[in-house]
Amino acid sequence: MTAQNSAEQKQSTLPQNYTPLEIENEIREFWAKNQIREKLEQTEKTAKAVLGYVEGPPTLNGIPHIGHARGRIMKDIRYRWKTMEGYYMPFWAGWDCQGLPVELEVEKILGARNKRESIEKYGMERFIEECKKAIMRYHQMWLEADSRLGIAINQEKAYWTYKDSYIEREWQILKRAWEQNLLEEGHYVVAYCPGCQTSLSSAEVGYEGSYKEVEDPSLYFKFKVAGKQNEYFLVWTTMPFTVVTDTMLAVQPNAEYVKVKVGEETWIMVKERVEPVMTELEINDYQITDSILGKGLEGTGYEYPLKDIIPKQAELETKHPLVHKVVGEEFVDVNTATGVVHLSPGNGEDDFWAAQKRGVPIFAPYDDEVKFTSDAGLFAGIFARDADKMVIDELNSRNAYVKVKRIKHEYPTCWRSHHKLVWLARKEYFLRTDKINSKVIEAANNIEYFYEEPKNRFLGFLKEGKPWCISRERIWGTPLPMWTCEKCGNKHLVSSKKELIEKAQEEIPEDFELHKPWVDRITLKCEKCSGTMRREDFVLDTWHNSGASPHARFTDEEKSKFVPTSFLTEGIDQTRGWANSLLLEHIIFTDKPEAPYKAFLFQGLTQDAKGRKMSKSLGNVVETNKLLEKNSADLCRFYMMRKCSPVDFMSFDMQELNRRSYQVLSTLYHLTRFFMDNATFDKFNPEKYTLEWALNANQLQPADYWLLSIMQQTIEDYTQKLERCEFNSAVALLDNFVIETLSRLYVPMIRKELWTDDPETFERRQTIYTLLHHALKTVTLLFNPVTPFLSEALFQKVYRKMENNLPETVNLMEWPTPNSKIRNKTLEQQFEALFKVASISFAARQQGKLKRRWPLSKALIVGPEKTLQDIKMLETLLLEQTNVKSIEYSTQPPEQNNTEEWVSSQEDEITVYISRQRDETLLGEGVMRDIARRVQALRKELGFVPTEILELIQISDLDTDTINLLQPYLEEMASLVRAKKVQLHTDHNTIQVQWHESELDGKKIYINIK
Ligand SMILES: [Zn+2]
Ligand SMILES: [Zn+2]
Repeated sequence: MTAQNSAEQKQSTLPQNYTPLEIENEIREFWAKNQIREKLEQTEKTAKAVLGYVEGPPTLNGIPHIGHARGRIMKDIRYRWKTMEGYYMPFWAGWDCQGLPVELEVEKILGARNKRESIEKYGMERFIEECKKAIMRYHQMWLEADSRLGIAINQEKAYWTYKDSYIEREWQILKRAWEQNLLEEGHYVVAYCPGCQTSLSSAEVGYEGSYKEVEDPSLYFKFKVAGKQNEYFLVWTTMPFTVVTDTMLAVQPNAEYVKVKVGEETWIMVKERVEPVMTELEINDYQITDSILGKGLEGTGYEYPLKDIIPKQAELETKHPLVHKVVGEEFVDVNTATGVVHLSPGNGEDDFWAAQKRGVPIFAPYDDEVKFTSDAGLFAGIFARDADKMVIDELNSRNAYVKVKRIKHEYPTCWRSHHKLVWLARKEYFLRTDKINSKVIEAANNIEYFYEEPKNRFLGFLKEGKPWCISRERIWGTPLPMWTCEKCGNKHLVSSKKELIEKAQEEIPEDFELHKPWVDRITLKCEKCSGTMRREDFVLDTWHNSGASPHARFTDEEKSKFVPTSFLTEGIDQTRGWANSLLLEHIIFTDKPEAPYKAFLFQGLTQDAKGRKMSKSLGNVVETNKLLEKNSADLCRFYMMRKCSPVDFMSFDMQELNRRSYQVLSTLYHLTRFFMDNATFDKFNPEKYTLEWALNANQLQPADYWLLSIMQQTIEDYTQKLERCEFNSAVALLDNFVIETLSRLYVPMIRKELWTDDPETFERRQTIYTLLHHALKTVTLLFNPVTPFLSEALFQKVYRKMENNLPETVNLMEWPTPNSKIRNKTLEQQFEALFKVASISFAARQQGKLKRRWPLSKALIVGPEKTLQDIKMLETLLLEQTNVKSIEYSTQPPEQNNTEEWVSSQEDEITVYISRQRDETLLGEGVMRDIARRVQALRKELGFVPTEILELIQISDLDTDTINLLQPYLEEMASLVRAKKVQLHTDHNTIQVQWHESELDGKKIYINIK
């Protein structure tokens, strides 16, 4: 039998190398084949409690990228962990299907330039069909990403926001709003995107990245005071086109205004701004002649200069006495411009309210493309933003122009198409969420946010409490179920498909669904006047659609169990998005100051390695599926959680991905192999040699007690940190336990004891296996939420092989709980002192160029009494760690006359002195250890199982001095390298065996293993 064969035969079921991609493929198959997800779903019956959950639905309009992955990993961590804790959580998928982004993509696919064109060319049925096809293409990618990432979300139970059943329940929420007079129709000023041809909610206007630096005119102009010669109001704007819809001027009632003489003219403006404005206008020669309070200007008329080319403006003056008059408004800011603000109620929110409360008519002569209508006279047909120059020219020719410059400023653009937004008064439907704002704030204050910054951001946004414009002039969305009577204006809100079908005046076609165009074809009969009622041609804001999910995705029975949910998490951008709409709709529906979620973690966004936003244009988007074709999901999960706090912006760095994370997971893997190989060799049975047995059998050494104690601490802290969503520091604990506690500290302390198969020490070895089994199995369970593939693999291939009664999957294992009885803080302290002294002794050796593995005669440790006491308790271990034959302790440094004998190093109050002296015996032991290490490395390289006892080891090309030094240690060496015999030679050429080259202190040596 050759060495290779025997190695293979005895190989454990864990392959020699950690190959995460292979493991992940295998485990994915295992989960599918054994229907593990289905089995987890069945735990509801036996669960100790239910934790509600509703999935924040990803929009099926984008390719899943690494930022999405980060959020999904956090959700999955919580699901797996809480399941192991014995809870049931409806971790069911959900997909956001409707809305503008989908429409825009379909327009692109169809090759249409806008909404009108796509409908004219292809018809609405075809358009809707294409929308559905588009989302299904993305759905495939998301399914793949979830599978690759190991997200245990239930895909069969997914909700789809476009399905009739979902839309009906969304309508029920609207019905409640209608009944409570929270749903209103009216003219409101909304942000409108000329590109997308729809209004945006105030939340959308504030989206990250919406504000862009744009260039606009900075125009000073003047309106002549009515009935005065040469007296003008000086006004400033960056949107000259709004002069077309100008209706009033506003001043700050309590500020001081002045008349400024400039040449022949007198200009009226606020006093504070005279100097800066004159400087800006480059006017040096001016004089203040008069002063008046803002209040005193109220009611003053001015001559609107463009009446001749906008006849409607002249007509407006006959409609209301305040048209083209000065009014007082608190919102006027006297620290910018001239303190005289021109009001265009058709184009500005403050302006709108100023007109509304005075009953002044709203002049908004715009069509859907934001082109002026014929009401705007000469401006008819011109796109609003293109009218700036013409307005300036017209003002100029009427002595109303003062000066224009270009300025760069931050201006909101459409988050989707990046067109400059225009504020327009339009007929819209609003949820009067301003009326329920106190309930919203009360509910929001009772939510757990885990971190302060996102909490403040969310509450700050909610406090704005603006009405929510929910109507959209689009196609692919939940239809607004409002029917209005053509004759008497009576309105009826439909709240179910059944009701609609019953009340319809038309025959319902087979393919009828709750979408345009089918719903539009249904008319109802007015209950008041028997007239025909038609649907208002709006769909709902897509945030209303997804925000309905806690009600719409469940049945009433499910909802009573799962809502309010225990925990939700989405990106920080959802403060204005889903987190907001969920909250508002739940409060509208319940009429209670209660949120539909008890806790909400807002995650930070994910950037590229250089900290730049990931975007298509930069080409730096990391797609989940592509990434995971070549990279491990476990590594990715571990890395992303370890890298930073969940609320931080994360810079995803491919280079980092395979460094520390790989080291940790690979170490866990190899430690498990080490345990498995040794334990199998000794026929370890964990059902017999339990932790209780070890504790009672009096076999435990201090290092074992120490390991147990640290283990308990790790379980406790880790669980607490998961609870507080401190995923990064939680994962750091696992990292530390594997790399430091187990690999660097504990295993080296016990390794030698496993190199023998002496029957005398059989029980001691079983004790060590018990401890390794306890620690490694426990940590494998703790890893499961973060690295489910590796944990499942180790669970199946190691622990389930050893124990008969374990559940079918690691996910059904009970979450470890700390045993306080085996915590020992004093011992932990003693070990801390021990490791510290050892580390100082290594530094001392380094200074004296004394290799760590060279045994030396003695060490002297000088330090405080307490430290000395701590380490004296562990002297055997200390001798081993420092690799000296004897240790002296002292609270005082030694006489200084023997520096030749000692090398030393100091840290804090501890100094370790090491004797430089090496006698022949120690020298021989040192050389033997050097060679033994090389033999062990070679054994491993050749694929020998660590537990296998070799026949013969031959070492050659040693000089006679070295051979003499080594003679007394041959037996010890044989036991160290697990061989029956060791032979030494001077020349390898004299013996015909397979030699392997190695080196010792710079000289070549040769090794043969049989
Ligand atoms: Zn747009
Ligand atoms: Zn009617």
